[in-house]
Amino acid sequence: MHPFQRTQRMLFMFSQLRHASKSAGPASVSANIQKHDALVKMANPYKAPDKGCVLCNVTVDFKNIQLLSQFISPHTGRIYGRHMTGLCGPKQKAISKAIKKAHAMGFMSVTHKHPQLMRDPNICSIKQPD
Ligand SMILES: [Zn+2]
Repeated sequence: MHPFQRTQRMLFMFSQLRHASKSAGPASVSANIQKHDALVKMANPYKAPDKGCVLCNVTVDFKNIQLLSQFISPHTGRIYGRHMTGLCGPKQKAISKAIKKAHAMGFMSVTHKHPQLMRDPNICSIKQPD
């Protein structure tokens, strides 16, 4: 094929391509783009977690042994730390203060959990919501 013929042929092909894209129409192309690249609605990933712990609306009393027993180790009687209880600062302080007061008043054993409260549902084993 002559070089001139080849360029003629290529030009013809290009013009055909242009016609094909024109016949498809810019509106349908933009609709296609909108369908695939449309913004997806999603929840705000930077939203602060809901405030409050399991005891935020509960009054902590040193006589409530059933409640306090859920924050101590069944083996050693030690008060669980905040990484295990998942409580907020003020309530963790209130719980540890109430447990120490219950120890001093003789309501609770210092070295172990009361056997009757061993199988009590344990607040510290609740999985924290995400
Ligand atoms: Zn709280």
